[in-house]
Amino acid sequence: MQLYNSLTHTRDEFVTHEPGKVGMYTCGPTVYHFAHIGNLRSYIMEDVLEKYLRYTGYEVKRVMNITDVGHLSSDADTGEDKMLKGAKREKKTVMEIAKFYTDAFFADCAKLHIKMPDVVEPATNCIPEFIQMVEGLIEKGYAYLAEGNVYFDTSKLEEYYVFNKQEAEDLAVGVRDGVEEDTAKRNKTDFVLWFTKSKFEDQELKWDSPWGVGYPGWHIECSAISLKHLGEYCDLHCGGIDNAFPHHTNEIAQSEAYIGHEWCRQWFHVLHLNTNTGKMSKSSGEFLTVSLLEEKGYSPLVYRLFCLQSHYRKSLVFSWEGMDGTKTAYNKLVAKIATLKDGGEIDQAQFDALKQRFTDAMDNDLNTALAITALYDVLKAKTNDATKLALIRDFETVLDLGLIEEAAKVAELQAAAKAAAAVTEWVITCETPGLDEGFMKEVEELIQARADAKKAKDFAKADEIRDTLTGMGVTLKDSKGGVSWTKG
Ligand SMILES: [Zn+2]
Repeated sequence: MQLYNSLTHTRDEFVTHEPGKVGMYTCGPTVYHFAHIGNLRSYIMEDVLEKYLRYTGYEVKRVMNITDVGHLSSDADTGEDKMLKGAKREKKTVMEIAKFYTDAFFADCAKLHIKMPDVVEPATNCIPEFIQMVEGLIEKGYAYLAEGNVYFDTSKLEEYYVFNKQEAEDLAVGVRDGVEEDTAKRNKTDFVLWFTKSKFEDQELKWDSPWGVGYPGWHIECSAISLKHLGEYCDLHCGGIDNAFPHHTNEIAQSEAYIGHEWCRQWFHVLHLNTNTGKMSKSSGEFLTVSLLEEKGYSPLVYRLFCLQSHYRKSLVFSWEGMDGTKTAYNKLVAKIATLKDGGEIDQAQFDALKQRFTDAMDNDLNTALAITALYDVLKAKTNDATKLALIRDFETVLDLGLIEEAAKVAELQAAAKAAAAVTEWVITCETPGLDEGFMKEVEELIQARADAKKAKDFAKADEIRDTLTGMGVTLKDSKGGVSWTKG
């Protein structure tokens, strides 16, 4: 599989440290508010990547942190603590806020068919690991204590800006967000590993440490949690493009300084979801959630399809018109699949050829848009229903759009409607066996004519026909479902 690597800026063949196994790390949410659908775009694309790796035979271990401490509002160790902000807003404790929004996050994920990671680790669970790592960094000369905080010394590195060298100056911490620069830092790119003293508000959650009572910086948690669960070699690290700097840059700096060798080879970043007015974020006003999509009548799986229709390395513009178009496309797909009949023999040659289109698309830097085209190709293909259904089931282990389940619901509704229609259908039944065919046809025509007369409220004519039939020796029995007759 070819995958774009943010670290090398090229499409690389996906290779793991241990053949057949993938240690995958995903930066989890800071649980101070609901996730917006822009954040969730990253998790959807990462989910598809994980499922595709499993589909191709890899054994995947995926680890995700939950940030419930230490993430300040600027990403660069300045501003207000996000968790504290959430707690104040809702007049709850930080841990209450963390629990509520962690549950809300995974509820949204379930609705979007995002698989639960194998390991979910809240930062507050790993304080001893953070302290151990910070101690190690101080011992190795990569960290220093200044004005009560422990900082990582970026001047000790050969290379700090690993993702975006040319923008080094633009990205400089402190300048970017227009916030006051931390004067305790030796270099402006240094970042906090452990806070004991903050010029900002006091924190609710604090722990003892060799440097005094305090709390960890945001970046250290991902490095320590990854090392704890995936060991010294992480194969694949994922996140939104926002995370590349400073968060992932700092993760690499401290992890490699600590372990003394390359840490993670492959970096996967998902681009922004934009609205017509710009990037979607919690502070920009336009704050769309999964619940809001549902309130407006869109299935979360329609949003999943909306995301999969475009490439993860392109910015995606969200609009309600776009969602309407995707909803129509989704319903059409489901309706088509609902008409396919299960059973019968699979045409293996056709199956292999159509599957190849799907894997070619996915191997091509996770081109989900082309993979969706491959799904349409299956529906259009000149092959039997059994082959089509087998292919759709196969693709759905990766795309996970709920198409088979939704189609089963549609087929069930259609069958029920058909059964209901059959009950109200009006039928003529002959209950005397062995009659002449010509005679039966004549009788049935008269019965039909009598029914038509009754429908037209011409009762005189209806009675007249009945008399004719009686004269022919025919006895009628009317019922709700039609007329049955006998010949005496
Ligand atoms: Zn992270």
